Amino acid sequence: MLADIQSRITAAETAAGRPTGSTQLLAVSKVQPNERVADVLAQGHRLFGENKVQEAAGKWPTFQEQYPDASVHLIGPLQTNKVKQAVALFDAIHTVDREKLANKLAAEIQSQGKSPELFIQVNTGEEPQKAGVLPADADAFIATCRGLDLPIIGLMVIPPINEEPSLHFALLRKIAARNGLVGLSMGMSSDFERAIALGATHIRVGSAIFGERDYG
Ligand SMILES: *Cc1c(COP(=O)(O)O)cnc(C)c1O
Repeated sequence: MLADIQSRITAAETAAGRPTGSTQLLAVSKVQPNERVADVLAQGHRLFGENKVQEAAGKWPTFQEQYPDASVHLIGPLQTNKVKQAVALFDAIHTVDREKLANKLAAEIQSQGKSPELFIQVNTGEEPQKAGVLPADADAFIATCRGLDLPIIGLMVIPPINEEPSLHFALLRKIAARNGLVGLSMGMSSDFERAIALGATHIRVGSAIFGERDYG
């Protein structure tokens, strides 16, 4: 499964005229049984995504004893009361989306003397239930984060289901470009090739690597 995804990534990079290896694959391990995660680690993969701080804190320190070079990114919403734990645990956070969180991150990064790389989540579909800054507010929010000296490296999107994701990927890329940001966290199991075609630097693929998640 992992090898299959890796070859599809390479093919998509080639089709887009991009260098091989220019897309980072986050293997999204949320909810997956530890055996499946251990298997992907054993195959040599080292970059993972988790969407809950608590869940990640419960499993990654143990895996990292065996694989100290394993890296975990937070791709789910972050509450301000978990910022301290998140800054300590994750190598990147993809879901910075409001000023209160930005302020808290700035303070915590200062006090821990270390910082995850940060992405700002943009709600390109303007869905009320979804996290992320609205496209119209993105430029101002990016400027606010920069004013706090936050290491913002890119933007992240989760397109609305049942809409063509390419339109959302293209909008994200446009907002990033006009703000001088190079990182684009976009594309999941069902649409990562389209995301690579539109410049994704980080794709987040779960079920296509690990199999379906069992929430039961
Ligand atoms: C779960 C999740 C993914 C992975 O989804 P798949 O469809 O299993 O690839 C990607 N991004 C985010 C933010 C997620 O929560």
